[in-house]
Amino acid sequence: MSILEEIQRRRIFGIISHPDAGKTTLTEKLLLHGGAIREAGTVKARRNAKFAKSDWMEIEKQRGISVTSSVMQFEYNGKVVSIMDTPGHNDFGEDTYRILTSVDSAVMVIDAAKGVEAQTVKLFKVCSMRQIPIFTFINKLDRQSKDPLECMADLEDALGLPSTAVTWPIGNGLTFEGIYDRLENKVFLYRKQNGVVDLGPQGVFGSALDGIISQANLDILRDEMELLDGAGNSFDLQAIMEGKLSPVFFGSALADFGITPFLEHFLQWAPAPGVRKTTKGEVKPTDEFFSGFIFKIQANMNPAHRDRLAFLRICSGTFTRGMTVTLSRTGKQMKLSQSTQLMANERETVETAVVGDIIGIYDSGNYQIGDTLTDTKEKLFFEPLPTFPPELFMRVHPVNSLKAKQFQKGVQQLAQEGAIQVYHNDFNDVILGAVGQLQFEVFEYRLNNEYNSEVRMESLDYCVARWVNPATVGDIRDYLVARSTLVYDRFERPILLFANQYTLNNFMQKNPDIELWEAFHLD
Ligand code: GDP
Repeated sequence: MSILEEIQRRRIFGIISHPDAGKTTLTEKLLLHGGAIREAGTVKARRNAKFAKSDWMEIEKQRGISVTSSVMQFEYNGKVVSIMDTPGHNDFGEDTYRILTSVDSAVMVIDAAKGVEAQTVKLFKVCSMRQIPIFTFINKLDRQSKDPLECMADLEDALGLPSTAVTWPIGNGLTFEGIYDRLENKVFLYRKQNGVVDLGPQGVFGSALDGIISQANLDILRDEMELLDGAGNSFDLQAIMEGKLSPVFFGSALADFGITPFLEHFLQWAPAPGVRKTTKGEVKPTDEFFSGFIFKIQANMNPAHRDRLAFLRICSGTFTRGMTVTLSRTGKQMKLSQSTQLMANERETVETAVVGDIIGIYDSGNYQIGDTLTDTKEKLFFEPLPTFPPELFMRVHPVNSLKAKQFQKGVQQLAQEGAIQVYHNDFNDVILGAVGQLQFEVFEYRLNNEYNSEVRMESLDYCVARWVNPATVGDIRDYLVARSTLVYDRFERPILLFANQYTLNNFMQKNPDIELWEAFHLD
């Protein structure tokens, strides 16, 4: 197979959802279909096994959740599929956001009884900012669910996302009888294992389903199809590719039902790795020089060593173990001799890898999130990964001021790793910002265990952060409103913290000329 063919068969996607919607269950079923695992329960078991290996991940074990994430790869119908595992618990962190900057498409899992929930909205925003295709899987149809039309209206209302139904449920909960694939014109029967009915040219309006599903469900199905055919959004691949229209699928991850039509359509439409923007124009997957960027750094996978693992997404060229590349930020030459492919089961040393692969490279502290690595002579940088605004803030001090050095070093390294946002104010207090509470706990634990620095943290009463465009204001301190404060990030960029949305609105009303940014891009 040529390298081009290898690239074109690769698919990298992430699954986004609110906790408990069924992300883990769906991931597992996809891996089962792809033959990457043999038994259900493996994904959870793998997580548990990983916890046991690692020290600071003790926190995860106690909470039974996953803070870290890796890649699970499998092959299906000739495609090499990588699922980027994103932390799904309420205490998710910035990692979750960043991982989504490395994927080419996303699958959004929604609980059919609950509809779009809070965390889905946040994660959706990141995907929509990148204009990647978003596939919707509406899960748990084996239980009593919302009306499917209501589920689709919910996507439009809560996310502003128009959708088009590719599959459609027949009943739900106790009346659940199957899934209708509107494009293939087939019905998959729920209670009859492997039962598939080809509907023929008349579709649901013909007689193919007579006596096979209940008359009540058939009447509803026909009504709904009439409505969808007449008033629903029609299928438009171009709009799907641009993230402006979401193809919707229904099913039950737990019952492994509706997964096959979903997976097959998904792999048919999900894009292969595409071009990526850099400071020197676009890099194409077919460009010969090697290039890639680091989107995640994970510490202490192996507690016996202090090593870190940097996750690299390859954007052009071929990786071969031992190759020398330039780290654009510093201009330093780096030899990539220790590399690993991140798989569902075990990590293996990787000798070569192509565009669309994610590899882990060992790091002794050289890399930062967002770093570009390349073997071209030209100095290029991939578009920086945006920084997302934290919603929780803490002031932090070392308990023992004689250990201030360790404290500073630990804070700096954890900030570099992207574990947490670190700010300071005009009094040189260290202020931490996070999107999830767990990031603070991990921070405290790691500072104590890895840097021998015990800390005291006090929660601050702010929950909205905005970067200030310094070009639009003289001294921002002159404009502060009640219940707001000024801090600086590690690049000395000014950020305003507000107690709530109301104080932010108040500020914006009073100072319409000061430009505030929700996420920071170096555009
Ligand atoms: P996550 O937090 O999104 O990863 O959700 P999980 O995959 O861990 O699922 C949360 C709970 O919902 C678990 O108890 C699952 O067994 C259950 N669940 C997941 N999918 C389905 C489904 O299709 N039907 C039903 N009835 N339960 C499901």
